[in-house]
Amino acid sequence: MAAVSNPKRTPVFRFLTIASSGIGSFVLGIWGLKLGLGDGFAGISAGMMVAIMAALCALAAAGAAMSFFAGVDESADFVFKETHFDKLTGLLARPAMVGKIAEAACTTSRTGEPMFLIDIDIDRFKQVNDAIGYSQGDELIRAFTKRLKACVPQRALIGRIGAGEFAVLLPDNQVQGTLESFIERLIDEMMEPYELSTHMQSVSLSVGIVAMPKDGIDPILILRRSNLALQNARASGVGNWSVFHAEMGRVADHRQWIESELHIAFERGDFDLHYQPQLDLPTGRIVGYEALIRWRHPERGMIPPMDFIPIAEETGMIGPIGEWVLRKACSDARHLPDDCFVAVNISPVQFMTKDFVGIVRDTMTSTGIKPSRLELEVTETAMMQDRDRAATILKQLADMGISVAVDDFGTGYSNLSYLIDFSFGKLKIDRSFVSRIDTDTSSGAVVSTIVGLSRALGVSIIAEGVETESQATLLRAAGCEVVQGYLFGRPAPLKFRAGDGYATDEVRRVANLH
Ligand code: C2E
Ligand code: CA
Ligand code: CA
Repeated sequence: MAAVSNPKRTPVFRFLTIASSGIGSFVLGIWGLKLGLGDGFAGISAGMMVAIMAALCALAAAGAAMSFFAGVDESADFVFKETHFDKLTGLLARPAMVGKIAEAACTTSRTGEPMFLIDIDIDRFKQVNDAIGYSQGDELIRAFTKRLKACVPQRALIGRIGAGEFAVLLPDNQVQGTLESFIERLIDEMMEPYELSTHMQSVSLSVGIVAMPKDGIDPILILRRSNLALQNARASGVGNWSVFHAEMGRVADHRQWIESELHIAFERGDFDLHYQPQLDLPTGRIVGYEALIRWRHPERGMIPPMDFIPIAEETGMIGPIGEWVLRKACSDARHLPDDCFVAVNISPVQFMTKDFVGIVRDTMTSTGIKPSRLELEVTETAMMQDRDRAATILKQLADMGISVAVDDFGTGYSNLSYLIDFSFGKLKIDRSFVSRIDTDTSSGAVVSTIVGLSRALGVSIIAEGVETESQATLLRAAGCEVVQGYLFGRPAPLKFRAGDGYATDEVRRVANLH
């Protein structure tokens, strides 16, 4: 931490304190010499005079000492406040929180009464902060803190342990209901949009939990483990939470390996794109291909995108990787049939980059792809981070003639009002609804509702993850005619796709079930 100087103990203040006690003692001494050593004063004997003098000198010295110690105390208090409390929020700062965890660990190992450490992190806070500006970022953190205080029991201790990271120390006996229901409620409440002075800001959270003494009592280890649980929660999606378990240590090693290897892999050219067809059921025609990144490591083989994309997002590697995907997909499009478009996944981090639209424009110019042949797949969460900015970006893309599909539709944001403000061309029904459509009636109802919604909004619809004939039949019956899934073709390298504008006879048979 930077050295701090106590504003109340200025050089002038110090000079006045020292000078006044010094001069005071000196004057008292002279006065005593003059009066106390004479014949006495106003009937007071010389002996008594000396005693009074000695008492006054002692008082002056005591005053000086008191002032000195008051200064020391005040300085110590000042340094304590500077180092223990976070300036922006007034919450405990990280070093103080480590101390509190150590104290809690002592208590819990003595009493055996469990104590939880809940690590709450605002996803991609740095990017949010860059996008909305630091003063709005500070306002967001203050509003977040205020709500967090209201959401946790009074006896819980809260600390701010990172820019967008908070830790809550919560005794088991303070948890109302089950820990699970408490955490779910906490996440729901904390993810409600924040009203800032300029706009409404949404955030997504990841939460990691450790229990003391079960998961350890060393405060540094406890914080590391809560962070491992948090990373695990983040990898499994928006607004998720995880409780630490030992396996996470091994996962962390794998993550660290990926983090260190991503850059080398990119330079070495390990990445490739596979393409998965999107099929129009009534005609059996392939209308487009989704580009899906593949990482083949020379020693470890295939590494799934879900393992490395979130890490690339956190480390910033998604910038160059995403740009490479876009460029490669746009230039590969010339090997695909003319009437097929190519759909490119855009990470939320990429979507919110300052010059995202500029990058898309440059890529289109350099590859010569027609805008009608490019589709961008963007998730709801990406658009929700900053609605105003997202609306502007979507409008600019629409003006350029590029269609945007809302990926994983139905899994993210519950408030659908954004659909009215945003310019997009397609809803992509998430695989989780499709996979249950033939077994679970409510999934069928959701699919029909989404189809109805797309019609009302005048946008297209596609379903992903279609694996069985009965799913295809039910989707078509619900009004969703464009589909993608293993039933019609797995993602495959471009060379197997060239000129492949129509589905195989088998696929056509499946497509024309009706
Ligand atoms: P996504 O965008 O939802 O992509 C669909 C995923 O479902 C792909 O997984 C695809 O292989 C898989 N899939 C397709 N049909 C079926 C099916 O019938 N059944 C099942 N079980 N799965 C099916 P993949 O390729 O592993 O990609 C996973 C995720 O990684 C993607 O989900 C996307 O979010 C991300 N991703 C992939 N490529 C890129 C990329 O180039 N850029 C970015 N930003 N993200 C990417
Ligand atoms: Ca996608
Ligand atoms: Ca999806």
